[in-house]
Amino acid sequence: DPRLEAISAAIRVVPNFPKKGIMFQDITTLLLDHKAFKHTIDIFVDRYKDMQISVVAGVEARGFMFGPSIALAIGAKFVLCVNLANYQSYELEYGHDRLEMHVDAVEPLERVIIIDDLVATGGTLSAAISLMESQGAEVVECACVIGLPEVKGQHKLKGKPLYVLVEPS
Ligand code: 5GP
Repeated sequence: DPRLEAISAAIRVVPNFPKKGIMFQDITTLLLDHKAFKHTIDIFVDRYKDMQISVVAGVEARGFMFGPSIALAIGAKFVLCVNLANYQSYELEYGHDRLEMHVDAVEPLERVIIIDDLVATGGTLSAAISLMESQGAEVVECACVIGLPEVKGQHKLKGKPLYVLVEPS
């Protein structure tokens, strides 16, 4: 799919951010590129439009940039999975990979896809899966724009399928 090349090219790599040795994948440049951004949304929409998905759950914060457009296009609702550590100073009380949502956001048996910009270890997606399952919802798949291949986050996802568009070269 030639669209994937445009998506890869629009992602900026920032070496040594936020700390030395990390090659940060910056999706803000993808959001600046209308064509590549639209390709990203279109590919997800094509994949999920006929899968009876009623919930698109976006992981804070960069899952919020992709999820709502997908939800609108496939006729699903958008649910925010937030990290309370971002709102409270009591970071010890709320672990960094613990996610929360409003208790009435998702109903039992709803079919959910979880979206984020990037999967590395899979810890974040795994927290989102637990959150959805705590309400009795069915996680159909996790979807990310970028998958870091070396980390093999797939093994952490409780057997749920993972769909990624691009892997950094
Ligand atoms: P994981 O929990 O899979 O180890 O890490 C994934 C989470 O960390 C995602 O929520 C993602 O937004 C963030 N993250 C980690 N590394 C990067 C990166 O290089 N670029 C971006 N955009 N997000 C990252």
